[in-house]
Amino acid sequence: MHPISKAIRTQVERTNEMEHSQPLFLSSSFCFDNAEEMRAAFADETDDNIYSRFSNPNVQEFVDRMCALEGTEAGFATASGMSAIFASFMTFLKQGDHLISCRSIFGSTHTVITKILPKYGITHSYVDAGDISTWEQHITPNTKMIYLETPTNPGLDVIDLKVASELAKKHKLLLNVDNCFATPIAQRPADFGADLVIHSATKWLDGQGRVLGGVVLGKKELIHEIYLFCRSTGPSLSPFNAWILSRSLETLEVRMDRHASNALYLALQLERNERLNWVKYPLLPSHPQYAVAKAQMTNGGGVVCFELKGGIESGRKFLNALKMLSLTANLGDTRSIASHPASTTHAKLSEAERMAVGISAGLIRISVGLENREDILADIMQALEKV
Ligand SMILES: *Cc1c(COP(=O)(O)O)cnc(C)c1O
Repeated sequence: MHPISKAIRTQVERTNEMEHSQPLFLSSSFCFDNAEEMRAAFADETDDNIYSRFSNPNVQEFVDRMCALEGTEAGFATASGMSAIFASFMTFLKQGDHLISCRSIFGSTHTVITKILPKYGITHSYVDAGDISTWEQHITPNTKMIYLETPTNPGLDVIDLKVASELAKKHKLLLNVDNCFATPIAQRPADFGADLVIHSATKWLDGQGRVLGGVVLGKKELIHEIYLFCRSTGPSLSPFNAWILSRSLETLEVRMDRHASNALYLALQLERNERLNWVKYPLLPSHPQYAVAKAQMTNGGGVVCFELKGGIESGRKFLNALKMLSLTANLGDTRSIASHPASTTHAKLSEAERMAVGISAGLIRISVGLENREDILADIMQALEKV
């Protein structure tokens, strides 16, 4: 079966087959018929659910659907994207280990790598997302993992997954990829050799701005380690959020097709605008890593970035002039969203620090929604007139 059909048709096992929609298992624990069954479950001899911090039917359905989409053997779902990322670090890194990561990554991931991991003696080197040939020189005998996003948030750099995977294999490192921006509809990192694939399900996977969620996917042996870490530390996904997310996945392909075609249209139209220094989208021929994007992505995703000529002040004016687009700290919604990182998420950084992570004063990020593309374009065009 095609991965999309498999994801849509994968269902939780249930005793009553009457409902076409899935039942919701809002239960913190599960019963056993006798002591022997309970012993066997605790001894990992059966897959029976014990307690929803360990496993739950709705959560397993979401994980199974994600495995179908990403082409992975196993997964563990968490309460948010950050808990998935943190679990992947804490499971596979220990005191004295070293991590290689791209400088341009999601803000909270940057905080974990630079502020939290050092408390446990885990060091890192930041490398340039745009030039993978420079990464190898940062690998040391205690390097254990390469962590990357592609496309990156918010810089939209595209990293060659095949080259990253070869580098990881050569030095026996785990390749850990945050696939949040591309989604499995555009790119499947495990097909290129990634060991771990991570999602913030909060973004495109739900796609409707309703719930937080995350997942770590990969080979059985690796996910078992993630499971053991999470089972004891407790960042598990709630059954209700899993139920929502399983339904969301049924429309993921049709939503992403439209998000991506709206985004490409917007990028092409804006590229000619003289109020902008540049427009960035993975599948624009002017993108610096266009060839890599074309080789590994089947669509460019739903995020478009551009730089206003005027800096911080023009960024504020642009946001204030928008009439339809939402101003909110999220992305990956049916409704288009505009954000200005320099005055919001990255406002505490110095100019030099911001530039190092690829965020200039005039950078605007658009999460392109499902509205009619002419309406999205018209709102941006009228706001550009006012900056
Ligand atoms: C939002 C985001 C995360 C964190 O996800 P949460 O669900 O908000 O914890 C991680 N990576 C990327 C690329 C993101 O955009």
